[in-house]
Amino acid sequence: MTLFEKIISREIPAEIIYEDDHCLCFKDIAPQAPVHLLLIPKRPIPRIAEAKNTDQELLGHLLLTVGIIAQQEGYEEEGFRVVINNGKNGGEAVPHLHLHLLAGRQLQWPPG
Ligand code: 5GP
Repeated sequence: MTLFEKIISREIPAEIIYEDDHCLCFKDIAPQAPVHLLLIPKRPIPRIAEAKNTDQELLGHLLLTVGIIAQQEGYEEEGFRVVINNGKNGGEAVPHLHLHLLAGRQLQWPPG
């Protein structure tokens, strides 16, 4: 069981921002910006490169939901960033797909 599955089952506590039948959003434990949330599917997909056609609806739901959360939390006007890390060079540490939502400061491009 991944760390994030333990957060879904409440075995590990997290500051939960949003939840529905398909996904959970909570604060990152080591924030890289004033706002740093993680949005994860409840049905585990290890990483984006391993998503299947059968995950299409869930992936769409995650993208729509991250936009709604950003809007509802008030980050739309100043802007925000959504990041998915995949594999070693991508900086992936937890093998359970997660969207990072970063906001609250000017983010650099290209990323480091
Ligand atoms: P990745 O590097 O895999 O894209 O992102 C994993 C993220 O999970 C990191 O930003 C890290 O800070 C966060 N993280 C790791 N362990 C925990 C935890 O126990 N609780 C929470 N809320 N976030 C975690």
